[in-house]
Amino acid sequence: MIKKIDNLNAIKILITGGAGFIGSHVVRRFVKKYPEYEIYNLDSLTYAGNLENLQDIENEKNYHFLRVDISNAEKIDDIFHTYKFNKIIHLAAESHVDRSIHDPSIFLKTNVIGTVNLLNAARNNWSKASGNNLFYHISTDEVFGTLGEEGLFTETTPYKPNSPYSASKASSDHFVRAYGETYNLPYIISNCSNNYGPNQFPEKLIPLFIKNIIESKPLPVYGDGNYTRDWLYVIDHAKAIDLAFHKGENKSSYNIGGFNEYKNIDLVKLLCAKMDEKLNRNQGASENLINYIKDRPGHDKRYAIDASKIYQDLGWKPSVTFEIGLDKTIDWYLNNEEWLNRLTSGKYKDYYLNKYPNK
Ligand code: NAD
Repeated sequence: MIKKIDNLNAIKILITGGAGFIGSHVVRRFVKKYPEYEIYNLDSLTYAGNLENLQDIENEKNYHFLRVDISNAEKIDDIFHTYKFNKIIHLAAESHVDRSIHDPSIFLKTNVIGTVNLLNAARNNWSKASGNNLFYHISTDEVFGTLGEEGLFTETTPYKPNSPYSASKASSDHFVRAYGETYNLPYIISNCSNNYGPNQFPEKLIPLFIKNIIESKPLPVYGDGNYTRDWLYVIDHAKAIDLAFHKGENKSSYNIGGFNEYKNIDLVKLLCAKMDEKLNRNQGASENLINYIKDRPGHDKRYAIDASKIYQDLGWKPSVTFEIGLDKTIDWYLNNEEWLNRLTSGKYKDYYLNKYPNK
């Protein structure tokens, strides 16, 4: 629903995927912190999009919602023409590796073609002389492939994606960079590690396991559980995006990580211990729910991010340790069980229909 815009000279920022997990934290931060910006949240509301995530800011004067699919080139060009966005923060994507193994095509359509549609619209609608435009593309550390026991991904590590998801993200990163080189489109890319925190769809490890522990259901751990990931608190990621968006160097990329590597099995055991404590269960009760399952094909062994560039150049560092972030996250899910239940039952979809009955 588009409200009247009083300030015609306001900077208009298109944020795609704002009803999703990370996007909702970015939208909230920008709407609250920058009342002088007009924020347009564009989202097609797939299974992963939930407008309830933004209930607290949906009536702010500088917030607008557009239900649009980024794979629809004509519609994307249309809305660019109508609203004349100055800048884009692009998060909309299919984001779940397991789903990409099951059905890669939708990842090509949304992550690659959708990104190219946005790039084309930006290229067609932005004047070369303005100097005031930016295409900020949010990507993942998974584009770099896998590491052995040692080493870290830096901004210059060659891309070597192993899953259909990471291949689609790598491809979209290449297109963004190529539009920068070929058409001089101003861009920034950031590649970040696994996010965790409030509002994450309970198909990803941490919210899924919190939900399963609450319900005393099995905790499916892939292979031997010795896969290593770096974990980043989503609020810290939103802060890093804010900083790179405002202070980052044109045509560059930033790695964002939590300086915080965990083997999956160690993380699960830590989560189990914390959940036992918070739910007043006997220590060990949740760990008994661990169930090792057949490994995921093409499973990357280890991801680890060297985030020293964003730390040194822009002064960003995570505000919480993993233990504190995990505590905050568990508390959020325990205090928002109704949110979790509506996601599981599918009732969260009604929120949009009730809020925007004529769309
Ligand atoms: P998410 O799945 O929670 O949200 C994705 C959002 O995009 C949803 O609101 C969905 O409705 C929307 N969307 C999907 N297809 C669309 C389409 N065709 N048109 C318009 N909207 C569409 O994802 P997330 O975890 O918040 O990830 C956001 C971005 O960050 C993605 O680009 C992802 O690749 C990247 N990323 C995520 C992580 C992570 O740990 N979650 C880590 C690194 C990078």
